[in-house]
Amino acid sequence: MRPFFGSGIFVACIFAVFIFAGCATPIAEAVGASYDLRYTATLLPAEGKALVSIEVRQNESVLHSADFAVDAERVEFVEADGPTDLANGRLQWRPPAGGGALTLKIEIDHRRNDKAYDARMTETWAVFRADDLFPPARTVTAPGAESRAWLRIDAPADWSVVTAYGRGSGEWLAVNNPLRRFDRPTGWIAAGHLGVRVDHIADTEVIVAAPRGEQMRRNDILALLRWTLPEITQVFGSIPAPLTIVGAGDPMWRGGLSAATSLYIHSSRPLISENGTSTLLHEVLHIAIGRRGDDWLVEGLAEYYALEALVRSGSISQERYQAAHRQLQNWAREAGKLPLENSSGAQTALAVTLLAELNARVQRGTGEQRSLDDVIKQLNGPELNLTELMRAARRVTDEPLGDLERRMHSLVG
Ligand SMILES: [Zn+2]
Repeated sequence: MRPFFGSGIFVACIFAVFIFAGCATPIAEAVGASYDLRYTATLLPAEGKALVSIEVRQNESVLHSADFAVDAERVEFVEADGPTDLANGRLQWRPPAGGGALTLKIEIDHRRNDKAYDARMTETWAVFRADDLFPPARTVTAPGAESRAWLRIDAPADWSVVTAYGRGSGEWLAVNNPLRRFDRPTGWIAAGHLGVRVDHIADTEVIVAAPRGEQMRRNDILALLRWTLPEITQVFGSIPAPLTIVGAGDPMWRGGLSAATSLYIHSSRPLISENGTSTLLHEVLHIAIGRRGDDWLVEGLAEYYALEALVRSGSISQERYQAAHRQLQNWAREAGKLPLENSSGAQTALAVTLLAELNARVQRGTGEQRSLDDVIKQLNGPELNLTELMRAARRVTDEPLGDLERRMHSLVG
């Protein structure tokens, strides 16, 4: 996860990337061995904690060891099958060859700053990320080992549970991150006395879940997505389903935070701000873009296409759209550079103006036949950066872009 500290009209957001490093050390063993991982969290609202178990099922030693990053202030070691060592923010665990479990007790509440939380549990609800309970780990496995993982959240009897992998307290939910050797659940979870609305939009099941009484505008969110999601998937392809949106009010953090297929938004955020931008769509765009890369470009694309989705769907007028771009141009004057990490609001605004210029150049060079949309569709590398963007642009238009590219290169870094 990378924190983004925006200001002004942009709201800081986190794009939870897969930082999980499943590294295998070759040891003479059968290739392609697999093991199962069962992740369980029992929510204990009276304590504000969850009893978390990570169980490894294997017939022989496939997962040799796991080295977890743990926040010592929130995580309490309970017990484990096999040896463990907790020191300096790392918990090393060697599960027995025949499998076993590691049990931790983890505090749910987490402050993002002195006033606001980005994970919280009350007596009637909880909103947090699976990452808060199941920490990332470095692993040593048999060569070519693969894992299959399931998640179960056990909540009090009258609570509902919504995760990025499905719904239901006490249900085993399959965790599919096929590229990982050590799967683990990530993304946003809401549990408690929830109001839940589900809709199918642009081939995606969209779930909006928030504790009752937290003023989450579930139907307004679905309405905005019914207008705009088809415009977003036109450019970026279909969004992984289900798209899970959770929220709550104060003292949760007053912004938006996205993970791979889920996002959190504070229930008092306007769906469209006074200046015409949208925190909700910005976060949805992060999910649609689905890739990491240089931060100015990832943030710039999310903001640029949030505005595009609004104007193309008729959710805002052309006049309001133009005014939003003018405001971003003014703000961009404060930007200075285009940073590889932690793009500020002004820097993201500068990125939007440059993407708008690239779009205009592509349109002009192709007699209005093609646009930045076609450039986006040509992006196929795992990471987004300027070189990749300009390579894709040259596939779409013969228009000379050298001066723009040089100007952008001089700003990056
Ligand atoms: Zn963002």
